[in-house]
This record gives sequence, C-alpha cells and structure tokens, in this order.
Amino acid sequence: MAVIGIDVGGTKIAAGRLGTDLCVERSVVIPTPHGGIKIVDAIAALCADLGSDSTAPITAIGVGLPATIDAVTGRVAHSVHTGMVDFDAAGPLETRTGLPVVLDNDANLALLAEHRMGAAEGSQTALLLTLGTGVGGGIVIGGQIFRGGRGHGAELGHICVDGDGPPCQGDCPGHGCLETMCSGTAITRDLRAFAAVNPNTALGALHAVGKLDSRSGLALARDGDSDALQVFAGAGRWLGVGVASLCNAFDPDVVVIGGGVSDAGEVILGPARKEYLARALPPTRRAEVVRATFGHEAGMVGAGILAADAI
Ligand SMILES: [Zn+2]
Repeated sequence: MAVIGIDVGGTKIAAGRLGTDLCVERSVVIPTPHGGIKIVDAIAALCADLGSDSTAPITAIGVGLPATIDAVTGRVAHSVHTGMVDFDAAGPLETRTGLPVVLDNDANLALLAEHRMGAAEGSQTALLLTLGTGVGGGIVIGGQIFRGGRGHGAELGHICVDGDGPPCQGDCPGHGCLETMCSGTAITRDLRAFAAVNPNTALGALHAVGKLDSRSGLALARDGDSDALQVFAGAGRWLGVGVASLCNAFDPDVVVIGGGVSDAGEVILGPARKEYLARALPPTRRAEVVRATFGHEAGMVGAGILAADAI
C-alpha cells in the first residue's frame, strides 16, 4: 500500500509518495500555478507521475491547501494565497485520479505530522506556526487537531500583533497580522528595505543585482553578516510577540515552528524565544519553542498521514 501526500504552498507544491511505514519514497517540487483549476491540474499530473513507478498500488491522496476547508460542505472556503473561493477541489481530483481524495488546511497537516511522529509527539496541547509565503497555524487540543467551529479556525498567522502594522497579504483585510511581520515575504521586504537605504552593505550589493530575498539573506546571516542577522532577529521578535499571546491563550506544551523560514533555526528562533519569555504570563512560559522535525516536508508527510488514516 502507498499513499500520496501533496502540500500546496503559496509559491510551490511539494508532492510525495509514502509507503506503509509512512516514509517518503519519492518526492517532487513544482511552482504553484495560480487559480484553483490550474492547481487541480498540477496535482493530478503529480499523482500520475508519483504513481507511475510505485511498486505498491496507490490507495488514497491527501492534499494540504493554504486555505480553510468548510467542515460541512468539504469545499475550499477561502484561500489568501491561491485565489480559491468556495471551490470544490476534491471532486475534480477524484474524477481525474480515480482515487479517494481528502483535504485539509496545510498547517493542520504539518501539525498532524509533527504530532504523530515529530516535535509535538505525545503532546495534549500543541501549536504550530509555519513560516513561508504566509504564516500558517495549527492547534492540537486534547491530543486532536482543532479546526474551529466550522473548519475555518486556527488561522494563527492572521492574529494581529500590531494594529497599525503593514496591510496583510492577498484578500486578508487585516493590518499587522503575524504573517506581515515574520513570514518569508515579510523578511524579504525588510531585507530589501534595509538594502535600499544602505547600498554599501553586503545586503545592498545583493539587492543591486536583484538577488536579495529571505533565502539569500539567510545565507548572509549564517556567514555572520550583522545586518542580515538584525533583520532576522527583528522578524524573530515579532514571532515571539505572537507566540507569547498564543501561549497565554492556549497554555501549550510545545510550540513548533516549521515552514521554509524555519531553516533559519536559531537565527530566528533565538530572538523569538527571548521575546516570548519576556512577554508571556509566568505559568504559560512552560511551552518549549522548537523547530519542526519534518522541516519543509511536514505538510507533505501530514497529507500522506491524512490519506493513510482515511482508508
Ligand atoms: Zn492577515
């Protein structure tokens, strides 16, 4: 038996085939096309590719979307980053692939993977933030994923940390949402803003040739560039502001940080932890703030677990 796990992100789709032990046998990454139909087409093609050399039959497909899924209708209700609104993603995919398809929010699935066999394993109360194009959120309460009243909750990236902060992304009408302060998009914006007024720096030099983003900025930070380190620390402090509020609200055992930006490790987690410990109420400072075990593969692995659980 094998299943396919698909993680649709704001900028890329990661797809993997998982065997009976839920280990990833093969994975593929492609850029995310814009619009629901194009995304469904891309997922169907990825499933055909991953099924083509599988020794075991594929039995189900799990798909994580950067979207809220309506628990009653099963339709994609809303997605800040992909343009899907009240969209049936599972139906056309089942028709195209002939296999059962299960959907969930991408961050819920990242937390499912971390809770089943990663950084939040065995926890009764856990939170996850995925730092990528946006900031996704997941909540475990009583050992189960909590999705809100009708499946639209746990959007922890859209809690407000600065009421007068920058406008949020996509069609989120908020200002100063957590994702406007510590997502990869926010870090790229802040690195470029610094570079624009400080052209005679390493960041300025990268910006001048159009090669400055959160990834290249992180490479500089890892080499010890103090300007890059400062920008990542700034994003980390905002992450800590959000984590402190979330810990006061949920009193979690663990807060797991995943997504592409979590590759920065202590460059961002160190300042985040310091800020969280300085702000959270004393009893809720017990939560550990740790990096996701599955890194950028968490959503894909979680989607595979959802598919395996469904059959
Ligand atoms: Zn927002």
